[in-house]
Amino acid sequence: MKITRFEVTPLIQRGLLLKVHTDEGLVGYGSPMNYEHGRTVERAIHDMGDYLIGRDPRQIEDHWQTLFRSSYSRQMPIMLSALSGIEHACLDILGKSLDVPVWRLLGGSCRDRIRVYGGTGGNTPEEYAANAKARVSEGFTAVKCTPFPDPVRYVDSPAMTDSIVARVAAIREAVGPSIDIGIDFHRVVSPAMAKLLLKELEPYRPMFVEEPTHPENVDALLEITRSTTIPIATGERNTTRWGFREIVEKKAAAILQPDIRHCGGILEMRKIATLAEIHYIALAPHSAADPVGVAASIQAMAATPNFMIQEYGGGAGDSLFVEPLAFKDGFIELPQKPGLGFEISEEGLEKNRATSWRLRTMRRHPDDNAFSDF
Ligand SMILES: [Mg+2]
Repeated sequence: MKITRFEVTPLIQRGLLLKVHTDEGLVGYGSPMNYEHGRTVERAIHDMGDYLIGRDPRQIEDHWQTLFRSSYSRQMPIMLSALSGIEHACLDILGKSLDVPVWRLLGGSCRDRIRVYGGTGGNTPEEYAANAKARVSEGFTAVKCTPFPDPVRYVDSPAMTDSIVARVAAIREAVGPSIDIGIDFHRVVSPAMAKLLLKELEPYRPMFVEEPTHPENVDALLEITRSTTIPIATGERNTTRWGFREIVEKKAAAILQPDIRHCGGILEMRKIATLAEIHYIALAPHSAADPVGVAASIQAMAATPNFMIQEYGGGAGDSLFVEPLAFKDGFIELPQKPGLGFEISEEGLEKNRATSWRLRTMRRHPDDNAFSDF
């Protein structure tokens, strides 16, 4: 079997759909990360295609190592995004060629279904509470919010702290103690402000606080982690085993959140999970609204002993699949179909095709127009 062609479609869910064609008629799908540079990722896929076209798509580790090791700078996110999407597609083809789901190729499943959490938000605490309750009534047993009304300053006012805490408090009161609440700081606060907020949020017993600060400085994260009893999660921007090594070795987080669309792919996600497992760290993979990425992540997590929960936007984008992922009671059923477990609907693809590329956004403080992280 030989790879013949790569086809990339930008999706309205800020994702890219990669379709890899073979000379035997089998096709595989992958989900490379888009960022604000979807066209550059597409170009990187075609550059890798120069090497891959004419080669057997089932030689996955060999292709991955060749493309990774032959790169002058191995940790380039755009290169890893392209490589991740290609890897998903090759595993999809391998699974289809053997008529087994990808999770079977990874050693079989460690669980019968995959726990997922949904996002919630709003403007006022009342809206946060109502939207969280709505997610619970859809079946979710865990929700995640980003409770920041405005950009947060390095050290902000007690009123800002109160308004952030009020949003989380409103959710906890609305959903009760049986529902898990994740809180995403989305790297928008300083370590000093993060420590202050974590102390105030501890009484609401969140499942985790995600990205309490920027991910580039692991010692800053470690200081935050040691200041609180709330489990700290991070990793949506990190790539490969090497990108997670310092966090894991220093135990700077309790939960890793690699994104299958740029961490290096399904096999790399398994390797990151194994690295984490040594230190009793759990995995809660990141995902935006892209359903192909979620489908790929589920395959990896089915075979991961230290899996905790998967991010899942729900609903949006499911029209892309002939048969949507089976969500029920806060879990996604383990896909039983070969490969990544879905078929792309051609009609759905037209509906989900983006007509323009994503533009860059910059959040600024409303009173002085200073930069704020986003
Ligand atoms: Mg996040």
